Amino acid sequence: MPSRSALFSQRSLILALLLLLGCGFLATSLLSYFASRSSIRDNIINTELPLTSDTLYSEIQKDLVRPILISSMMANDTFLRDWVLAGEHDPERMTRYLNEVMARNRAYTAFFVSDLTHTYFQAQGVLKQIDLQEARDAWYFRLRNLDAPYEINVDLDMANQDNMAIFINYKVLDYQNNFIGAAGVGLSLESVIKCIDDYQKRYMRSVYFADRQGRIVLTGSDGGPQGMQAGQHLSDVKGLGDLAQQMPIPVSGSREYRSADGHNQFLNVRFIPELNWYLFVEKHEDGRLDSILQSLYINLAICAMITLVVLSLLNAMIKRHHERIQALATLDSLTGLPNRRAFDLLAAQALLEAQREPKPLVALLLDLDHFKALNDTYGHLGGDEVLRQFARVLESCLRVSDIICRWGGEEFVVLLQGSEHQQALGVAEKIRQKTEQLAFSYADADIKLTVSIGLSSLRPDDTLHTLIGRADHALYRAKQSGRNRVCTDHA
Ligand code: GH3
Ligand code: MG
Ligand code: MG
Repeated sequence: MPSRSALFSQRSLILALLLLLGCGFLATSLLSYFASRSSIRDNIINTELPLTSDTLYSEIQKDLVRPILISSMMANDTFLRDWVLAGEHDPERMTRYLNEVMARNRAYTAFFVSDLTHTYFQAQGVLKQIDLQEARDAWYFRLRNLDAPYEINVDLDMANQDNMAIFINYKVLDYQNNFIGAAGVGLSLESVIKCIDDYQKRYMRSVYFADRQGRIVLTGSDGGPQGMQAGQHLSDVKGLGDLAQQMPIPVSGSREYRSADGHNQFLNVRFIPELNWYLFVEKHEDGRLDSILQSLYINLAICAMITLVVLSLLNAMIKRHHERIQALATLDSLTGLPNRRAFDLLAAQALLEAQREPKPLVALLLDLDHFKALNDTYGHLGGDEVLRQFARVLESCLRVSDIICRWGGEEFVVLLQGSEHQQALGVAEKIRQKTEQLAFSYADADIKLTVSIGLSSLRPDDTLHTLIGRADHALYRAKQSGRNRVCTDHA
């Protein structure tokens, strides 16, 4: 059985390893988790989002900027300018012209407003006269005073059942750069929102636009960030307050913010000069980061399993090793005398030498008398103490060259090397007498003890087995004949 201190050191070794492996695995798992998390984030912020923003920009150019070009072409069209400068005769021609522009460019509507007559022409004919007092015509008078050549305006379209539309209102100037009217095309808001929905679906991002004042101007059909609608301000979006404050020139590029629902959002902002709007492309901290969190848990579970398996294997190995070492130990733990394993080795060597030389060798087999009764009287611990003291008595009667062994229980074997029979008999007798005379002490008690001894002398053809066998017979006779005596194999 492993000793308590061995058990303790084994337990502390296992604990130390558990701590070491646990900390090591935890550290490497966490490190790799944070490394992949930051590389995914870097990738989203520095590569994915800007790339999507670039691609979206070209899409927007195709879908939204093209109407601006068409409007610009209309504003610079010599027919349109000449027709106005010639006195706006034959409105049919203007209507035809607008119809042509609309059909060819698949615009939702095409219009011209004359500054001279305040007539609003569109593809179906004259729509109305614009009026400075009318709120819905305010756009025209705003455009007139504008420094920029055009303005994009989201408004109700009177020509189309008052549906919302995006108008590109371009200033028309005569050859001397005098303002003579406004021309342009309109896109149905519905179709633009459809475009944004399409971008969002294709690129799996949120896409919305804000003007330079930070007002959200266009979103997909589900609304903008955190359900914001067009018309609301960016400062109302949780996490985007600082960006709203930077308007009209926010820091372009990618950023990360925490939205109202506690999720991380990655956002790329870029200015689209043609629209005079900012394009916002947003990505949620989605499944990819969740999946690496999941792999962290799996990793930790695997590490825990490996640690457990390694430690239990190690524990079993140490235990086996310990047992083997114990078995290999050559000393008897109670008396400190060599055990049977050690005796076998020493005895084989002694026998070989004695037979080779040849020289005499005598074996003594000793068995304490009535030891069971002694145990019964003084307890097993008392018996142990007597065994220990008897071992010292035995040693005191022998020479260093003699081989002693605790044979088992309360039996001992001695090999007296170079001793003749008679001489050995003297030694055995000495042991017997000393044992008989001595009082073994245990817990204030003086214990009396006797020993029976069987003696055998080596014969040329002896093995250890036959030699001890004869000593055993002699011992048997010593017991039979009344104990506390020495008997020899000479009958
Ligand atoms: P006898 O040899 O005289 O015939 O009688 P005995 O009582 O000694 O006989 P037996 O061989 O039957 O009993 C030996 C006893 O020794 C039984 C066993 O409990 C006890 N014994 C064996 N090993 C130890 C030990 O290591 N410590 C103690 N205290 N007792 C032991
Ligand atoms: Mg016995
Ligand atoms: Mg006995």
